[in-house]
Amino acid sequence: MNTRPIKAESKHEIAFNHPTIVGKEMEYIRQAFAKGKISGNGEFTWRCQVFFERMLGCKRALLTNSCTDALEMAALLANLQQGDEVIMPSYAFPSIPNAFILRGAVPVFVDSEARNPNLDVARLERHLTPRTKAIVVIHYAGVACDMDPIMELARQRGLIVIEDCAHAIDSFYKGRPLGSIGQLSAFSFHETKNIISGEGGMLAVNDPSLVERAEIMWEKGTNRVAFSRGAVSKYNWVDIGASYLASEITAAFLLAQLEEMDSIQSRRKAACSRYAEGLSHERAEGKFDYLSMPGYATYNGNMFALLCRSRAERDGLISHLCERSINATFHYLPLHESPYFASKYSGPVLPNCVRHAECLVRLPLYFSLTEEAIDRVIAEVRKFFP
Ligand SMILES: *Cc1c(COP(=O)(O)O)cnc(C)c1O
Repeated sequence: MNTRPIKAESKHEIAFNHPTIVGKEMEYIRQAFAKGKISGNGEFTWRCQVFFERMLGCKRALLTNSCTDALEMAALLANLQQGDEVIMPSYAFPSIPNAFILRGAVPVFVDSEARNPNLDVARLERHLTPRTKAIVVIHYAGVACDMDPIMELARQRGLIVIEDCAHAIDSFYKGRPLGSIGQLSAFSFHETKNIISGEGGMLAVNDPSLVERAEIMWEKGTNRVAFSRGAVSKYNWVDIGASYLASEITAAFLLAQLEEMDSIQSRRKAACSRYAEGLSHERAEGKFDYLSMPGYATYNGNMFALLCRSRAERDGLISHLCERSINATFHYLPLHESPYFASKYSGPVLPNCVRHAECLVRLPLYFSLTEEAIDRVIAEVRKFFP
C-alpha cells in the first residue's frame, strides 16, 4: 500500500500530504459545542447531507466515520448471501473486499485498464457467474469508469452497482456527478482526499428502495432517524446495523470544507496543471506517461500520478526525490497477491494491475502546496530523467 507517511521535518522538506484548515472549521466545531450536541445526526450532519443531496441529486446522503463504513453499509444493503460474488478491481484498497468478505461474500478481482487503474470494462463480462451479485467500481484519481456499459450489464443481470468515490468528489461522467450513477456510492473525507474531516465518509443512496433500510442500519439497526423526524413515537430495534454515523464534530469540520470546495478544487487543479505542463516535455519523449483521460471523464485534482516504464525506474525516481526531501509515493499493491488473499486466489494473472503497482508514482499534492514547491518537484523529476 502507501509508503509510511513521512512528516515534514524541515521547511525544505516537501510532504506528500498536509491537511489544511481552509475556512470556518474551528468556528463550526465551537458552535457544535455551544449547541450542546456533538453526537451524530445533528444540525451540522444535516447541513452536510443536504449539500450532498443537492450536489449529487441522490435520494439520501448519510455521513459516516469513513468510506470503509459506507462500503460496509453498502455490503449490508446489497443483502448478500454466503458465497455470493462481488466484482471489483484488484488495484484497490482493502476496505473494498473486506466489506463484502465480512458478509460472507467472495471478492472476484478484475484487471485494470492499461493506462489507468480503473476496472477494465472489456474484461468484466467473463468474470460474471450465476453467483455474481454486485460490481464495485473505483473512479481512480477521480477519473470516471465507463459507467454506461457497466450499468447496462448490471441491469440485464440484476446486479447492484456500488461506486467507490473516495477519489471522485466533484468529478463527472458524461456530465453526471460521480456517485449519482450506481445504486449506492461511498465517499471518503480522510485527510488524504480532496475534502477532509480527519476520518470521515458518506454513503449516497440513489436507489429509493434502499433509503429506509440505510437510515436504520446507520443508527444501530433502530428506527431512530424516523423517530427524530417525528415519524414514530418511540424508537426500537427493527433490523441489523451498527454505529456508522459521524459525530457533529466531524460534520462541523466537514461543512466548513464543503463551503470552500470551489477554492480547494481550483487550487488542486491548478497544482495538477502546473505539474502536467512542467513535465510535458519528458512525457512527450516517452519517459513516463500520465493516467489516460477518456473523453467521458473529468479531472478533479485528486492526484497527480506518473506511470513509469519499469519498476526499477519508478523506485529510482521515488528514491531520488526522497533523498532531496520530496515525499512521492507509490500506491496500491495488488489485492489478489496480498498476504491475506494470495492463497485464496485462483483467477487469471492481472497484468495491468501488477504494472500499476510497480510503475505508478504519486507526486505531492495538497491545498497549501506552493508553486515554488511544485516547481522544485518538477525540476527534480526532470533531473532524474536526463
Ligand atoms: C481512501 C480510500 C478508501 C478508504 O477510505 P476511508 O475513509 O479511509 O475508510 C476506500 N477506497 C478508496 C479508493 C480510497 O482511496
